[in-house]
Amino acid sequence: MFDRSETGGSHAVVIGASIAGLLAAHVLANHFDRVTLVERDRLPDEPEFRKGVPQGRHIHVLLVGGNRRLEQFFPGLNDELAAAGAACLDWTADCWWFNFGGWKPHFASGLTSMFGSRPLLEYHIRRRVAAQPKLRWLPECDATALLADENRTRVTGVRLRPRTPAAGEPAEWDLPADLVVNASGRDSRAAEWLKSFGYPAPPETRINSFLGYATRAYERPAGWQADWQALIISATPPKSSRGAVIVPLEGGRWLVTLAGAARDYPPTDEAAFLDFARSLPTPVLYQTIKDARPLTDITAYRRTENLRRHYAHTLDAWAERFDLNWPKIQAIDPKRFDERFRRVWRVYLYGCAEMFRSPRGRTHLFQIVFAKGNVTHQTYPMSRRFLYEDEVVRLAAQGIRRPGDPLIEDSLRVVDATLMTEFPAGPCWRRYNHDGYGQRDNGGPFLGWGVGRPWPLLTATSEPRGTMSPCALRVFRLRI
Ligand SMILES: Cc1cc2nc3c(=O)[nH]c(=O)nc-3n(C[C@H](O)[C@H](O)[C@H](O)COP(=O)(O)OP(=O)(O)OC[C@H]3O[C@@H](n4cnc5c(N)ncnc54)[C@H](O)[C@@H]3O)c2cc1C
Repeated sequence: MFDRSETGGSHAVVIGASIAGLLAAHVLANHFDRVTLVERDRLPDEPEFRKGVPQGRHIHVLLVGGNRRLEQFFPGLNDELAAAGAACLDWTADCWWFNFGGWKPHFASGLTSMFGSRPLLEYHIRRRVAAQPKLRWLPECDATALLADENRTRVTGVRLRPRTPAAGEPAEWDLPADLVVNASGRDSRAAEWLKSFGYPAPPETRINSFLGYATRAYERPAGWQADWQALIISATPPKSSRGAVIVPLEGGRWLVTLAGAARDYPPTDEAAFLDFARSLPTPVLYQTIKDARPLTDITAYRRTENLRRHYAHTLDAWAERFDLNWPKIQAIDPKRFDERFRRVWRVYLYGCAEMFRSPRGRTHLFQIVFAKGNVTHQTYPMSRRFLYEDEVVRLAAQGIRRPGDPLIEDSLRVVDATLMTEFPAGPCWRRYNHDGYGQRDNGGPFLGWGVGRPWPLLTATSEPRGTMSPCALRVFRLRI
């Protein structure tokens, strides 16, 4: 039972008790006196499907990196999952992958992860998180709004609506917090909440491949044997948009998900489901399930549209606060929160803001390669124009370079041969260190982690090179 009179100390609230929310709460418990997890669903005492996680009925694999990280967070989790019936599979030996007309080679890679149902995974993580004494649970409770200070620049808590208020409890009440983490997933109302504070709604990009799933669990026949434990059958566009997966689940079950893109949705009636399975580019999956005993109905899922909200404004605000509060952050642990940490986070915050703003939705790699954290509001986005006009013109004005200088030409040839890499956005020249050219903000020397101001002569234009040598053209374009 949640005790609303409990106050004092630092308090973090996490909205949503699915994977992201559980992990966030687990980490925050190391830093806050109290952590409250708010979840609109009832949280079952067993591995059970729940409405807030509709993907729980479908194929839901745990990839190797995610599994390793979970095991780091909760040592022994894999053993617990195995004891509950999950299988530890090698991704290249046990999972057979049919792709564009053939099976990928099978070999033991050591890249393993646990295969079981999504409810099983969530349940075991929840159990481990529940062992945290600082944690308070508020299940069957909707977060309906964020609370803010009078300037509307700081979130101060969450408004909550219990699904079934106890006698005498108000329909809605406010829970103050020092930090609020929104892990409410796909149905997040963050954009709406920020709008209520007077901020513009972030622009959205939606990309829909009209992919649909149809899923059914089967009993794995006793004594069943094969060289594979899981099958992945990829679509072969443009010929066919159909694919499928079969994975082992706890309880001696298989989970079979059929998938079709471009509105070629897999059907949910039995005969058509099997027909769809038969139409796959390899017969193995169909032959495996055609006589197997189904354990569930066939469930469809079609809400697979990709949605990106471009939170540039929020990222700008975070970057500003980060800069403003840097001395305080560093004082927490100067060894851990060192200059490198600062630069990494600045590139992340400014870079993400820039990415959200950019019409093409991405930061150019050269911006990261050259900036390496040496950014401010003024210099990021660090466009090619910035590199040329601000940096090169200054060099030319100082008479350090002149066009056609053989030394420059030769140097550039060496640079091209050793440092040039072609990226989709055009060629990019990796900066080399120890060149003594402004390695740090203050022009100081290299410190061992490659920070430096961009070196404009290492940056190409994106225009065609014509008949001139790349070096000559570059020097020409740079007007040196
Ligand atoms: C069909 C499908 C298949 C997928 N397959 C895979 C896969 O194979 N492997 C993989 O890694 N990922 C897969 N994904 C993606 C993965 O499921 C999600 O990225 C992941 O679940 C996101 O986790 P989350 O904790 O951020 O949010 P969610 O899992 O969406 O959870 C959000 C939680 O917040 C709660 N909530 C929402 N609003 C409120 C509110 N206002 N107040 C209180 N609580 C609230 C919900 O009830 C829910 O518990 C799949 C997704 C789908 C849809």
